[in-house]
Amino acid sequence: MAVIHRKDTRPVKVGNLTIGGSDQVVVQSMTTTKTHDVEATVAEIHRLEEAGCQVVRVACPDERAANAIADIKKQINIPLVVDIHFDYKLALKAIEGGADKIRINPGNIGRRHKVEAVVNAAKEKGIPIRIGVNAGSLERRILEKYGYPTAEGMVESALHHIQILEELDFHDIIVSLKASDVSLAVEAYEKAAEVIPYPLHLGITEAGTQFAGTVKSAAGLGAILSKGIGSTLRVSLSTDPVEEVKVGREMLKTFGLASDAATLISCPTCGRIEIDLFSIANEVEEYIQNIRAPIKVAVLGCAVNGPGEAREADIGIAGARGEGLLFRHGKTVRKVPEETMVEELKKEVDKIAEEYHRQ
Ligand code: SF4
Repeated sequence: MAVIHRKDTRPVKVGNLTIGGSDQVVVQSMTTTKTHDVEATVAEIHRLEEAGCQVVRVACPDERAANAIADIKKQINIPLVVDIHFDYKLALKAIEGGADKIRINPGNIGRRHKVEAVVNAAKEKGIPIRIGVNAGSLERRILEKYGYPTAEGMVESALHHIQILEELDFHDIIVSLKASDVSLAVEAYEKAAEVIPYPLHLGITEAGTQFAGTVKSAAGLGAILSKGIGSTLRVSLSTDPVEEVKVGREMLKTFGLASDAATLISCPTCGRIEIDLFSIANEVEEYIQNIRAPIKVAVLGCAVNGPGEAREADIGIAGARGEGLLFRHGKTVRKVPEETMVEELKKEVDKIAEEYHRQ
């Protein structure tokens, strides 16, 4: 059963996408290159786009980075978010350069006229502002009140920044409440969903390396998504950001929240195995990453329980001695020789994807 996803958030435009106001969850990532190195940054963004990244964020720590935004923007296809800490001049430059969204906490900008300058520039260009609350960098006033980072404190911090923007009649807001502690993040997002009408950007920050970070993100973001919360997410991993996108997309597929992605069902294998399942499963997984249709594809080691166990699969193969059985929805369609069975499966996948797009 698919999760009933929260749709009652304010829809916020980010480039050609809308975040919030629907049950869609948008996958984001962040570049690891020096932003002023336009060539390297654009190359990384293209790899992210190819992997299915829908929105990309770049760090903007200095003027060189801010000056590069316009050049980067010209060479990419997905919306560009610029991440700024404190310095309103960098925010203004990024907005002027064509940023589709900026991430800055208005409460940290300083004097009123600086906040107003940023808000007015964002209004003029029709771009949103993401407020990014982080458990590790809560305001001293809030830490003193609660003693340590709490979910209540994180939401209070978010509401404080929101209020500053609302007072300036600015409402194109997206909010994140990240923590590296999973329970704290889950609680903060739950509380935020009750009181914040804006779309929530999900993340478990500093989740860790590819393996541990994937498990931690899946546990944390999975708990939040299962409650129907979140309009966009970023998985944070200490590795190539393409992996973040893959994990994010896989997570959304698990919850039936990615309408354009194919899923692989594969068995763990056992003593009944008749084919080289691990390599076949990896090859098929790689192939379906570029299929933009919600198809379930199964790869099973044998035909004993296989097709029946994978009844929900739209198409699949089960190994048999020297051959494979091609099946749809639990029923065998035909036998295929072992040497060509992966190619046959790919052709069937393409056919089903075409049928889906014709509908
Ligand atoms: Fe074992 Fe066959 Fe089940 Fe795979 S499908 S786990 S090989 S019984």
